[in-house]
Amino acid sequence: MDLSRFPRRIYTPYVTPIEFLPRLSAILGGPKIWIKRDDMLGLAPGGNKTRKLEFLMADAISKNADSVITCGAPQSNHCRITLTAARKEGLSCHFVIEERISGTYSETASGNNFIFHLMGVESITVVPAGTNMAEAMQAKASELKKTGKSSYIIPGGGSNAIGSLGYVACAQELQQQLFDIALRIDHLVVGSGSTGTHGGLVAGFVGNNIQIPIWGVGVSRDPQDQEPLVYNLACAVAGLFNDSFKIQADHVKCIGGYWQPKYSVPNDAMIAAIKLFASSEGILLDPVYTGKVAAGMIGMIKLGKFNKDENILLMHTGGSPALHAYEAVLR
Ligand SMILES: *Cc1c(COP(=O)(O)O)cnc(C)c1O
Repeated sequence: MDLSRFPRRIYTPYVTPIEFLPRLSAILGGPKIWIKRDDMLGLAPGGNKTRKLEFLMADAISKNADSVITCGAPQSNHCRITLTAARKEGLSCHFVIEERISGTYSETASGNNFIFHLMGVESITVVPAGTNMAEAMQAKASELKKTGKSSYIIPGGGSNAIGSLGYVACAQELQQQLFDIALRIDHLVVGSGSTGTHGGLVAGFVGNNIQIPIWGVGVSRDPQDQEPLVYNLACAVAGLFNDSFKIQADHVKCIGGYWQPKYSVPNDAMIAAIKLFASSEGILLDPVYTGKVAAGMIGMIKLGKFNKDENILLMHTGGSPALHAYEAVLR
């Protein structure tokens, strides 16, 4: 897939490492667990949003935007990384924050919210759960237009077809990297939220004929609700390549049951997974995404979904700044 046709800014001038986790693999009694360190992407501390923003910010700049508007939850990694990119590009940056659980937005909260203020976000508009975020961002854009500003709207999680190109790029990076280190991976496990990461990987794997199953662990929805969203976005990505390859419904596989009781609300398996990764391998997961995704991977291992001699690759999508906002439940 020829990604050089799309405008791109480079925020990570290196390939993220793949590391073997020997102590964790031994504790879980096999399979062999490897991790792709997308928590080490640029716009430090980076995460999966960095790859999407390489394409989204390039698109914004090509359209002569002087401001970006995006949205997320009160501890949004996506908002934090978008703001970092905006600072690097000299653009102003505005957030619409959805208080998904009422009363949870606090201007003095720690974690990502602290960084929003440290980096001097131009505005934060807090709206209640269930607000139409696209309309709320459009309203901000109209307001900015009256002051002569030209803004570019980035959807939640950076998850549209353009943003998902970041994970097509990751699929291509991975294909070459696995060849370079002579590693055969049998399954990939990744978080599935606003779907750009999962959908981009599915498109990248199908478009490059990489035949490794991808398991998307839902962080906010069970498979019957999540799979159609991932499928639709993967198809939209294929559309950017004139449908030169075709996504099938069975290319999209989701795992449910690990995000409950609610998006961003802790559960015991998430807490146990964060403690296990930290104490056995010195790897920091996060409470909203990767902690629940790792819990899903551990759950699949316990259910015997993988053979003992297989190699499993966990995509570490970042998020560690949110740990600080959850210290009380993790201590
Ligand atoms: C946003 C995010 C995800 C989910 O990725 P989507 O592309 O939204 O599905 C996973 N992990 C972390 C740390 C994130 O910030």
